[in-house]
Amino acid sequence: MAKDYYEILGVAKGATQDEIKKAFRKLAHQHHPDKKGGDESKFKEINQAYQTLSNTQKRQKYDQFGQAYGQPAGAGPGGVNWDDFSRASGSGPFGGGFQSGNVEYDFGDLGDIVGDLFGFGRRSGRRRASQSAAGVDIQAEMTIDFREAVFGQERVIDLYKQINCSHCQGSGAEPGSKIENCKTCGGQGQVERVQQTVLGAFRNVTTCPDCHGEGKISENKCKECRGEGRKKESEKIKVKIPAGINNGDTIRLAGKGEAGVRGAGGGDLYINILVTPDPNFNRVHDDIISDLDVSFTQAALGDKVPIVTLDGEVVLKIPAGMQSGKVFKLKDKGVPHLRSRGRGDHLVTVNIVTPTHLTRQQKKLLEELGN
Ligand SMILES: [Zn+2]
Ligand SMILES: [Zn+2]
Repeated sequence: MAKDYYEILGVAKGATQDEIKKAFRKLAHQHHPDKKGGDESKFKEINQAYQTLSNTQKRQKYDQFGQAYGQPAGAGPGGVNWDDFSRASGSGPFGGGFQSGNVEYDFGDLGDIVGDLFGFGRRSGRRRASQSAAGVDIQAEMTIDFREAVFGQERVIDLYKQINCSHCQGSGAEPGSKIENCKTCGGQGQVERVQQTVLGAFRNVTTCPDCHGEGKISENKCKECRGEGRKKESEKIKVKIPAGINNGDTIRLAGKGEAGVRGAGGGDLYINILVTPDPNFNRVHDDIISDLDVSFTQAALGDKVPIVTLDGEVVLKIPAGMQSGKVFKLKDKGVPHLRSRGRGDHLVTVNIVTPTHLTRQQKKLLEELGN
């Protein structure tokens, strides 16, 4: 089970945004993977906690529902490169209640991360030459109806992102052009630079900026993607919403994030699910809770009352002499369990409504009853 986000940042549950920001800055500096003694997984953890707690809406959801199931964005196994980390925010060119936009962060300087995390929605504008080849993850939000969450649904979303270039099949080479050794690095994929500093000369080995570490380069770069093997285009993606999903849950689609450079592995797509409440149904875990008002006479003499469930109307038999506050369980009429077979129940709490206006006749009858 994942650790509590407040614990990760070492702040109290009621911490102010300022305290959260301070705690994040301190921890991020401490654990930044580029630093000596840095810890990438710890850094991701901190970042993930911060992403949620620094956003008032997400924090509210987190306080209410706890950690989303599945892997939240940024925690995917091996897929995230902190030099080129992307996340979604704001509005983007999506339809169907789908919102996203991509921001790329330059994690070379921690000062920038903090700034960018606060002002996300804009591009950092700078990219490192030694950019990693793997595609980055995308995080997005999707709003679905209550019934879609209960019974599951399939949706197709339009996502504008880096996709493999169809012209060169992701190779970056213009079809038919020769592939040769990179001249810049002599086919090594790495270049060495000597840097003079007050402490002496430093040998600095970096990924070759021309072949991006591949050692080979094509004679003619693909005209469509300028040799990158990928380009920004919208892609239709089928999203299967599993029955029983709940507000705040996350769906992970492996490999559906941004395509990598020249066929390198793609990032993952994380879709945070927001469920629109239904006025008729109150969901608690996988159970549906509802109230039913009956009259004094119905409670005393018994009756058959229609109840609207997720599967439509059923008839609830009220036994004669029923007491107020009784709870009836309509078995298996609740929400399907997400990760196991079966369903929750529908619980109906019955309240007896005492009449407030009685005719003289009714009053007389009740008085007789009371004697
Ligand atoms: Zn191409
Ligand atoms: Zn090279």
